[in-house]
Amino acid sequence: MDDEWICGRLGEDEPWMLGAVNPPIFENSLFTFANAAELGEAIRNEDERYVYWRGTNPTVDLAQRKLAALERAERAKCFASGMGAISATISSLVSAGDHVLVLGAVYGPTTQFLRYLEKFGVTHTHVVDLDACDSAIKDHTRLLYFESPSYMRYEIFDIPAVTRWAAGHGLVTVMDNTWSTPIFQKPLTMGVDLVVHSLSKYAGGHSDLVGGVVAGPSRLVRPLALTEYQLYGAAMSPHDAAKVIRGLRTLPVRMAAHQERGLAVAAFLEGHPAVRRVNHPGLPSHPGHRLALRQMSGFSSLFSFELATEERDEVAAFLDELRHFRVGVSWGGFESLVNAPALSTEESVRATMGIPAGLVRLSVGLEPAETLIKDLGGALERMGNA
Ligand code: PLP
Repeated sequence: MDDEWICGRLGEDEPWMLGAVNPPIFENSLFTFANAAELGEAIRNEDERYVYWRGTNPTVDLAQRKLAALERAERAKCFASGMGAISATISSLVSAGDHVLVLGAVYGPTTQFLRYLEKFGVTHTHVVDLDACDSAIKDHTRLLYFESPSYMRYEIFDIPAVTRWAAGHGLVTVMDNTWSTPIFQKPLTMGVDLVVHSLSKYAGGHSDLVGGVVAGPSRLVRPLALTEYQLYGAAMSPHDAAKVIRGLRTLPVRMAAHQERGLAVAAFLEGHPAVRRVNHPGLPSHPGHRLALRQMSGFSSLFSFELATEERDEVAAFLDELRHFRVGVSWGGFESLVNAPALSTEESVRATMGIPAGLVRLSVGLEPAETLIKDLGGALERMGNA
């Protein structure tokens, strides 16, 4: 099964689709049964049977089957957001008294959620690299959580080495694979136990959807589908599942276009005198580039660069000078976006994450690279003249 076929066709020859090119959206909150015995049987197997939307839905199921196949997982469960998937996954794996190791920089709200868990007696430690894990691991460490590339700085971790180390210490590994999408990286094939994604980014691709997914072996996904999915209630809606299915249809071609445009823009910035450094793992100058080539088959178009300034106001002025890039949060859509952590994150928090004041994050969309390069070049020049 190749990824293009999974995205375009997998699961779409079912009789109930009546030959439609797009799956029907099952917009019903509940299903009914011929008799009481059937209802009882369905409720006892609610992760397999259609009973109530907060648990299962056929349109959502189709998205899940495709995402599981793309990640080479036995099973996937879609959520109402990436954070829904992340918080349910972490909750399903830890109990009071457990400890979590967090490797590298991860999405801010993931760290916030780990802090929130402290009130239930779950603690965590951030470590910068695998060597530091040896001294940070505790008797009660249960889980190792990471992203590769890492958040905002796009560092690459050696995934097989991380998972070998974790397995050797009896830890479960969870990796956020949103940046690469399953088109460019398949962490489960490198020993990761569970993969989580925000589907709100490249997978959706049109900036009209918020969703998430966890994928992995049934022994880990089934319990959380029956418990945290049902109890926290962050269920994906069938309409959003239909948007995910639509997004997947074009994901391979969009990722190829994002890669090409992102690399062209990153190479331009790397050669610009007003730029200190560019954090894009696809650039040969990136310290993790060779490792990335071993474990990834491509590069998405979200990256950061450092303006040669320590001044927040200058960073803001640069953003204001851009005419084509739009200023906003999120990433992975058709439209190019710019954001800068200095504008929203306190200096002390940035310092602990190793994020300099001049860091700017770009999400390169599907516009021609020349348009974007012209825009960035113009803004850098005008900023210099201001
Ligand atoms: N993971 C990463 C790397 C993200 O950047 C985000 C959102 O920006 C999330 C997870 C959370 O996803 P969502 O916004 O769909 O909850």
